Amino acid sequence: MKIRNPYRNHPQWFRGNTHTHSTLSDGEWPLEQVVAYYRDRGYAFLAMTDHDVFTDLAPFSTPDFVGLAADEVTVRGRDHIVGLRLHGVVEPFSNDHQRTLDAIAAQGGLAILAHPNWSWLTVEQCLAWQGYQAIEILNGVCNYLEYNGYALSWWDQLLRRGVRVWGVAADDAHRIPYQGAKAWIMVNAEALTAEGIVCNIRSGNFYASTGPTFQRFEVDAGTIKAWCSPAVEVRFMTGAVNPALRLRGDALTEAEYTPRPGEAYVRIEVVDAQMQTAWSQPFFLDPDWRP
Ligand SMILES: [Zn+2]
Repeated sequence: MKIRNPYRNHPQWFRGNTHTHSTLSDGEWPLEQVVAYYRDRGYAFLAMTDHDVFTDLAPFSTPDFVGLAADEVTVRGRDHIVGLRLHGVVEPFSNDHQRTLDAIAAQGGLAILAHPNWSWLTVEQCLAWQGYQAIEILNGVCNYLEYNGYALSWWDQLLRRGVRVWGVAADDAHRIPYQGAKAWIMVNAEALTAEGIVCNIRSGNFYASTGPTFQRFEVDAGTIKAWCSPAVEVRFMTGAVNPALRLRGDALTEAEYTPRPGEAYVRIEVVDAQMQTAWSQPFFLDPDWRP
């Protein structure tokens, strides 16, 4: 069996938000104020994803902060797709998800299906589309609005059906003081550049969090090992209803799991004493792989 470890274990992790709004669409704060808010909280990168507005935050980049180029494309009603690493606006209101995904890909962009739960997307719809690299497994503002920000069951159902897609947590903040800095990703990159951030999201070298941290991940002799901030529970999820392994303690800082035959992937969830969570990306398993 081949265990595909998406993590490269570069020394640095960079915190960032891939989904944010300003007064360029329906956010309450002007762009400059939103950027300052995230920078002041130690964020290393940010994407301004106003609705059907292309924004390149590169002019705000400094040695310790990177602004991405992005757009949140409206497909139909509440169906939105976040495009990162774009060069211009993506034609909105096409009523055609695949056409929108193709338009993002044509720009060399990275596509994230926004808030699948809030959009009431079905898993069957997501299975039919191609060319998205991630889905939002947690969208902060959807919890604020309607308590439906989590899409972990969508993620597992897609992963179980063989779709190799990463999980992103994002604020989607419109009212910053109430919705900012609630959900983010930590990207592991050699250096802080826009290209480095997007490339490492594309390859799954990042995790999602509302608080806990992972330090590193290793695969050794068929076992997956993770090191994390002190946790009260660590779960290894493999697409079954119950975790394949659930560890409990007062301050767990490392955990390991050896995949079993028949499993297609393993992903790790870490919960801390404040009931905050970090989610690793899936380690995909190739049972037929031969060296
Ligand atoms: Zn949004």
